[in-house]
Amino acid sequence: MTDWSPRTKAVHAGVRRSQYGEVSEAIYLTQGFVYDTAEQAEARFIETGDDEYIYARYGNPTVRMFEDRIAALEGTEDAFATASGMAAVNGALCSMLKAGDHVVSARALFGSCLYILEDILPRYGVDVTFVDGTDLDAWRDAVRDDTRAVFLETVANPTLEVIDLKAVAEIAHAKDALVIVDNVFATPVFGHAVRDGADVVVYSATKHIDGQGRCLGGVICGTKDFIRKVAEPYLKHTGGALSPFNAWVMLKGLETVHLRCSAQAETALKIATALEGHNKVAKVAYPHLPSHPQFETAKQQMDQGGTVIALDIHGNKEEAFRFLNALKIITISNNLGDSKSLITHPTTTTHQRLTDEQRASLGISDGLVRMSVGLEDADDLLADIKAALDMI
Ligand SMILES: *Cc1c(COP(=O)(O)O)cnc(C)c1O
Repeated sequence: MTDWSPRTKAVHAGVRRSQYGEVSEAIYLTQGFVYDTAEQAEARFIETGDDEYIYARYGNPTVRMFEDRIAALEGTEDAFATASGMAAVNGALCSMLKAGDHVVSARALFGSCLYILEDILPRYGVDVTFVDGTDLDAWRDAVRDDTRAVFLETVANPTLEVIDLKAVAEIAHAKDALVIVDNVFATPVFGHAVRDGADVVVYSATKHIDGQGRCLGGVICGTKDFIRKVAEPYLKHTGGALSPFNAWVMLKGLETVHLRCSAQAETALKIATALEGHNKVAKVAYPHLPSHPQFETAKQQMDQGGTVIALDIHGNKEEAFRFLNALKIITISNNLGDSKSLITHPTTTTHQRLTDEQRASLGISDGLVRMSVGLEDADDLLADIKAALDMI
């Protein structure tokens, strides 16, 4: 299986067929498992072998299939699936950190990630230093001998800044710090986080892996040692397990993730290119546009530019709202990675909690809108956007 290409792994990796020989993976919707004898139960509690299960909070065959498939795709030895992307971020960090440890993190983070690093970890005695993720000197200055981990989103939400993962990993590894990457925006399809130096890769499977807006889920990918000796003991006792039903939805999502993401990214590039220079748009941010400040890094790190575009509309909240309200196909919603195109105004929704200064420092203006490009026809979407821009 190791020499299969990603698209083949996405369809076949991790399959565990029952005695019935089903084609589509079975949903083992069970909390518990029975034992033939008391002796067998005793033995399993002493040591749980491969494909032996005790309780679904610890593991489940359908969940295991999803873990194996995403690990194969990501190129890590193992993975642990979680109830949401945030359970994965929290699990990856809290399972390995203790009071007195130091962490360096990029400042431009998904709101809940920022809450964990800025509010929760310090409460438990972890010292966190925030840096501008695109400033390599800032990473160099911040990393110390006692730094245990660095945390970053390869592509920041919603400004789509791209962090040079290879360079940051080199800086972190020189101090033996673990590189933990939230790779949601780069997706398992375009990003190569492990190749570029990540030790632990975290996904919100809620986004592109499901890809059709149905289930919450997350996953932590890493070495067997990290996943089974560090992450699993923490997660199985604190209750962040993924439901078997949701795991099945994610397994099915992985089968089409390449087709969906590359079609969505192709449309995103087309829209971003067409809107550059539009008289109602001050700026278009998309990692694979030559005008993007980290264009070269984005080209090296990502096979395609991703499925999200940020548009800075001339004007402020009023103009942005008028644009959003005039759209007919593209729906107002704060999620992303869906087959339906979704649009949000970060200042008043996802990033409402931040102060004006924090938003300004992250480049989130009142005219900024973030669009997640779906599977609709590119020309239909472009016509919808242009008609709505005309209404401003
Ligand atoms: C959505 C998201 C998360 C959180 O995922 P949930 O599944 O909603 O818990 C974390 N990081 C990034 C970058 C995200 O976009």
